[in-house]
Amino acid sequence: MKTEFDIIIIGGGINGAGIARDASGRGYSVALIEMNDLASGTSSWSTKLIHGGLRYMEQFQFRLVREALLEREKLLEIAPYIIRPLKFILPHSPSLRPTWIIQIGLVIYDYIAKRKYLAPSKKIKLNKTKIQNPLKEKFKVGFEYSDCKVEDARLVILNALDAKNRSAVILTNTKVIKANNKNGIWEIVTKSTNKKSSKQIKLKTKVLVNASGPWTDKTISVIDKKRHNQKNIRLIKGSHIVVPKLYNHNKAYIFQHYDGRVIFSIPFEKIFTLIGTTDEPFEGNLCNPKISDKETHYLCEAASTYFKKNISPKEIIWTYSGVRSLFDDGKLDAKDITRDYTIEEKIVNELLYISVFGGKITTYRKLSEEVLKIVDKKFKKNTKSWTAEKSLPGGDFSPLEFNSLLENYKKRFSFIETGTIERLFSSYGTNLDKILGNKSNIKQLGIDFGKGLYECEVDYLIKNEWALNVSDIIWRRSKLGLILNKAELERLNNYIISRN
Ligand SMILES: Cc1cc2nc3c(=O)[nH]c(=O)nc-3n(C[C@H](O)[C@H](O)[C@H](O)COP(=O)(O)OP(=O)(O)OC[C@H]3O[C@@H](n4cnc5c(N)ncnc54)[C@H](O)[C@@H]3O)c2cc1C
Repeated sequence: MKTEFDIIIIGGGINGAGIARDASGRGYSVALIEMNDLASGTSSWSTKLIHGGLRYMEQFQFRLVREALLEREKLLEIAPYIIRPLKFILPHSPSLRPTWIIQIGLVIYDYIAKRKYLAPSKKIKLNKTKIQNPLKEKFKVGFEYSDCKVEDARLVILNALDAKNRSAVILTNTKVIKANNKNGIWEIVTKSTNKKSSKQIKLKTKVLVNASGPWTDKTISVIDKKRHNQKNIRLIKGSHIVVPKLYNHNKAYIFQHYDGRVIFSIPFEKIFTLIGTTDEPFEGNLCNPKISDKETHYLCEAASTYFKKNISPKEIIWTYSGVRSLFDDGKLDAKDITRDYTIEEKIVNELLYISVFGGKITTYRKLSEEVLKIVDKKFKKNTKSWTAEKSLPGGDFSPLEFNSLLENYKKRFSFIETGTIERLFSSYGTNLDKILGNKSNIKQLGIDFGKGLYECEVDYLIKNEWALNVSDIIWRRSKLGLILNKAELERLNNYIISRN
């Protein structure tokens, strides 16, 4: 394996994977190092929206909103199968703000950045519509606007895959434990986090990028001894609950709660509804943040304020929590701290390291471009931005062609259940050909692990997408963990073990 690089990136979340893709496409030699699975940090625990963030307009963060909205359609174009348009209904609560203020806000949201694919906002009457049906009677009017939803973990994996296709080295289950500055080059020591091995590897690089999300301060301690234990970020936990589907249409709701937070209710994996999120200071094990009873009750109560159905903790099928690492801008209240990113360049003994703080999934591509400007300066190069023009693997079609392509796949593989083809196309786009190839009957898909997961998909994920175990497959390469039963999971586990 190659051991000397132009750039080594620590952290295989969306920011690290995005930087790796951008840098390798510009001809730099790149290694991306992730201590667990790709997207195992914050990047698989988001609300899964590519959005400007209506809420940030109230905080007058117009730069962030505009940049995010510009990114929204660019990302939709490069990954039109894992990113899809989503309409949001905002029911109006007379006790909050007058309708005209919301209308002005939405007009700005519509026109602050160019829109090609997404519908503009409109005021709607909710009375006796299927949209009103799940809501309490008192909501008579509302607004409809557009944003996008995203398979967050898959976006990370696709960026890493594209980086690999452009010669980047991607190392998962590998932790950076030391960074020394020797003879004008960074010498990085990594350690395998695989239980069966404690193998250490030494790698060299000219530029080091710290994209380790909530671990950013810890990584700075490893890189720059003078900044040991320095506190640059605030860790804020956000949690979601998943309940059986609350309504029969495919729009999301956004509720402006009386405490100033917004609560989303989003159709999720066909038979569920995702409700979130909370914002509370976090201390604890970053690898395993968990929802608290207080957050569970808060989300159930908040959703029950708007839906006719009372949502109780008993109905919860699944929960997840993620930790935001926000650049400490001195704000007291967690919900008011900026979601914007900050990029810091530092020199230690004439060697450059770059740290990335904060940010959103929505702005990862732009953040990567900003990092590459610094890298270019260091290498005295003037490389071109390219990531908005080239699709991610499997995304070589227009967002407008999604439905017709899906229909073609359904016809071509009519022996596979429709719901399975829909999931597969929404996960792999045209790379689905690499999984299904010329298969012409169900037997050729191999072992049926249940719920539409077959051996050929598992093999593809292990061979091409760094999947090593059941969890990698059912939580980050898919969300099949929500529906596979114990026996099915055991079968899958036994199969993966038998392959090794
Ligand atoms: C509850 C919640 C909801 C959100 N919703 C949205 C949303 O809807 N839309 C949106 O745009 N944004 C959203 N965000 C923000 C978004 O999820 C984050 O900004 C983004 O995921 C951060 O990505 P990252 O790559 O910086 O960090 P991470 O995804 O955490 O990646 C950092 C990686 O670094 C690795 N690492 C750390 N230390 C080391 C080491 N020493 N060696 C090797 N690897 C290491 C970790 O294992 C981890 O995988 C949300 C965030 C939260 C918490």
